[in-house]
Amino acid sequence: MSISVGVLSIQGDVQENILSTKAALAELGIDGNVSDVRTPEEISQLDGIIIPGGESTTIGQLSLVNGSLKVLKEKIKNGMPVLGICAGMIMLSNTANDRVVGKTDQPLLGIFDIKLERNSFGRQKDSFESDISLEPINIQKFNGVFIRAPSVTEVGSDVQVLAKFNDRIVAIKKDNVIGTAFHPELTDDVAIHKYFINLVNSFKN
Ligand code: GLN
Repeated sequence: MSISVGVLSIQGDVQENILSTKAALAELGIDGNVSDVRTPEEISQLDGIIIPGGESTTIGQLSLVNGSLKVLKEKIKNGMPVLGICAGMIMLSNTANDRVVGKTDQPLLGIFDIKLERNSFGRQKDSFESDISLEPINIQKFNGVFIRAPSVTEVGSDVQVLAKFNDRIVAIKKDNVIGTAFHPELTDDVAIHKYFINLVNSFKN
C-alpha cells in the first residue's frame, strides 16, 4: 500500500526534505507520495512526518495557534513515525534550554524525555560539518551538517542514543521517532531518510 509522507511546512527547510524523501522512496522502490503539510486536516492523513530544521520557537508558536501541534502529538502518541531535524528535534523534546538565554517557554511536543541545549555549538557563523557514526542503525559514516544545532545533554531511560559528536549527543530515537541535531537533507546521502521511510512503511503495511 502506498505511504503518505508529509514535511511540516510552517517554517524552515521544507523543499530539501521533500527532495531527499522522494530520493529515498525511489532508492528503496517504495510507493509513496510526499507533500508539504501545515493544517490539522493535512496532518491527520499522514503515515509519517518530517519536522524540518528552522526556528523551533516559530514552528512551535504557529503550529500551536493553527491547531496542528495537538493533532501531531496525538498521531505521534499513536505510533506515527517522525524524523525531527534540528529545530524538529527540539520540537519533539519535553524541555529546551538555550545556551545563552536559558529556559525558553516555547510550545513543544514532549515526546522525548531529554535535557536539550539549543544553539549548543554557537551561532550561524559557527556552523560546521563533521563525519558522524550512527552505529545502532547501521549507518557507519554520515556527513553531519550542523547549523545553530542543539545537543542533548541527558536522555531518559526510554530514549536511545544513536550518535555523538565530541561526547555530545546529536542523534536519538524512541520507538518510531528519530531526532538529529544535524541536517541530513543538506547532503546527497539519503541513508537517514531511507531509515525513516522504512519505519513509515512498516508502520503502514
Ligand atoms: N537554533 C534553532 C532553534 O533553536 C535550530 C536551528 C536549525 O534548525 N538549524 O530552533
